[in-house]
Parts: sequence; C-alpha cells; structure tokens
Amino acid sequence: MSSKNNIKAIANRIRDIPDFPKKGIIFKDITPLLSDIETFRISVKEMAAPHMDQYIDVVVGIESRGFIFGAPIAEILGCSFVPVRKPGKLPAKTKSVSYELEYGKDSLEIHEDAIHAGQKILIVDDLLATGGTAEATCKLVNKLKGNILGFTVLIELEFLKGREKLKQYNVHSLVKY
Ligand code: AMP
Repeated sequence: MSSKNNIKAIANRIRDIPDFPKKGIIFKDITPLLSDIETFRISVKEMAAPHMDQYIDVVVGIESRGFIFGAPIAEILGCSFVPVRKPGKLPAKTKSVSYELEYGKDSLEIHEDAIHAGQKILIVDDLLATGGTAEATCKLVNKLKGNILGFTVLIELEFLKGREKLKQYNVHSLVKY
C-alpha cells in the first residue's frame, strides 16, 4: 500500500467521541485502530519511517498512549525505550517539569538516569493538541542533556497550534485535523 493509502486506512480507524472527557472536547479514540493489528503495524511503521536512516539512541514515550506506539517504534529502530510518566509513578530518582493546562497545572517525570548527555532522542506520543505535554517532555529531556532529533505523533490537531511550541524541533504527524 502507498503511504497515502496507509494514512487513509489509519484515519478510518480513529473514532470521534464528542464531549469526552468533558463537554466541547472531541476525543480522538484510537482503540478501533489498536484492535486491528494490520492498521496498528502500519501506524508504527509510518511513525518510525522518517527516522529509519537516523541513529536514534532512545525513544521517549509519553504516558500513556505514547507507550503503545513508542515501545514498538524503539524495537523497529533498534534502540532503548524510556517512559515519561505522570507524578508518583516512577520508582527511582526523577526529574520533574510542571506545565499549564486549560484549568490548573500538571507535571511529568522521567528517571534522572534514563538518558545520558548527548544521546539522540526521538519523542513519541499518540496526539499533539496544544503542545503543552510535548513541550514539557522536551524540557525533561533537555534537563538530562538529551539531543532531541524529532517528535512523532499519530494525530495532530492542527487548529490548536501545538507545533508553534515545538518550533525548534522536527515534528512528524500522520493524520491531521
Ligand atoms: P496537549 O498537551 O494539549 O498537546 O495534549 C496532548 C495529550 O493529551 C496527548 O497525550 C493526548 O493523548 C491527549 N489529548 C489531548 N486532546 C485529545 C483529544 N482530543 N483526543 C484524544 N487525546 C487527546
């Protein structure tokens, strides 16, 4: 299948759930995609594709749906996988970054020994919306002096302009709304 047809097949398996988790939000539900192994395989392959010729040391996956795509992408690229998690979930010593949400604040954590200075990093998540989560993850990786080569997501909500927060990075998305 051509890459264009692959993207169509992926988009066909993303379901809109209106007013979840709260009124006014259209939740992009990827469970129909995950339940079809062929489409899941294609998604992982297309997300990894721009990085096949780069040398990546570490794929960083963002909790929780970033783990689903991040781990198989790390496997394809032949590198290690590091999770970025919500507060209180990682057992060893962590670095933490707080970021603004629409209402209030949230934070993300990474194990402080997870990345070594200068390692080449690819960050993975399922969806880029306002870019707050992605920007916080970049800050965590920068704290550990990782060298961010790219950010890859399955879905980009372009109207929320998350990409503007990630101007200095190479952002790759498959399905755009
Ligand atoms: P943001 O920080 O605004 O870019 O939000 C990105 C994170 O929130 C990702 O980890 C997504 O999983 C989740 N997210 C935000 N908006 C949606 C949406 N409309 N549908 C599904 N997940 C979303």
